[in-house]
Amino acid sequence: ATPTAIMVGMGRGAQAGILVRDARALELAGRIDTVILDKTGTLTEGRPGLTDCLPAAGVTEAELLATAAALEQGSLHPLALAIVEEARRRGLRLPAVTEFRSIAGKGVTGRVGDETFHLGAPAWFAELNITVPSAPLLAEQGKTVVAVASATRFLGHLALADRLRADSAAAVARLQTLGLEVIMLTGDNEATARAIATQAGIRHYVAEVLPQDKAAEVSRRREAGRRVGMVGDGINDAPALAAADVGFAIGAGADVAIEAADVTLMRDSLMGVADAISLSRATLAKIR
Ligand code: ADP
Ligand code: MG
Repeated sequence: ATPTAIMVGMGRGAQAGILVRDARALELAGRIDTVILDKTGTLTEGRPGLTDCLPAAGVTEAELLATAAALEQGSLHPLALAIVEEARRRGLRLPAVTEFRSIAGKGVTGRVGDETFHLGAPAWFAELNITVPSAPLLAEQGKTVVAVASATRFLGHLALADRLRADSAAAVARLQTLGLEVIMLTGDNEATARAIATQAGIRHYVAEVLPQDKAAEVSRRREAGRRVGMVGDGINDAPALAAADVGFAIGAGADVAIEAADVTLMRDSLMGVADAISLSRATLAKIR
């Protein structure tokens, strides 16, 4: 490999906001055949807003939202930030919470009054042996639906919606044109995942993947002979980025994601992934 071509390639990338860690990463980017995209904060903006507040019979919207926000105060999850923000906007007084716990990929738990409440994915309540009414049909619109309940009391459902980044669908199309298989990975439920993948033009997706299992999804494909690029933004994505042939951290990603990445995209756009691959291929062509 001529060092000059690599240097020029890396410089050109930097000018376009694509920071490539080293020569090896630049070479590998052009050889990947599979791109795995995290959903929240990667394909989407990662700033969901509360869209529906659906209290159970006998529960007020204010009670549902105040309890939910109280439980989420200790969490930095994008869903948590949206719930706390909406409660604040409505000027709700939040009850005190003790024994707060956050369970990655599932939700949060805490004691309000003399009851332990859970807030999170409807599927999680089955694991907790708590029966909650089936979620309203909002996931088909790409919304994330969460439930709030204790062992004895169901308070209601909340729905939140996150938007695709403006050029995510166009970037996916470009990656597919470059001959890459594009796969979406998410901890979100099946119906929400299907809706978002469809909006983005992605045929293959894996839903309900726990944060700690994202790296295994990457490794599984590498063991099957694929060369995998993984794109993520958050703390939870760092192991998956490190497990990939090439890890891409997008935008103002968490420091840990950037540390684990081979390529950092300074612009909040997945076009940077396609640009990096094209740049690498052009550089490799000069070397041969
Ligand atoms: P993603 O892969 O989209 O980043 P996560 O793995 O962080 O999603 O979470 C998966 C699911 O777990 C969410 O869709 C939600 O249902 C639930 N969940 C996780 N953390 C929280 C939280 N703090 N508040 C509410 N729900 C949560
Ligand atoms: Mg995420």
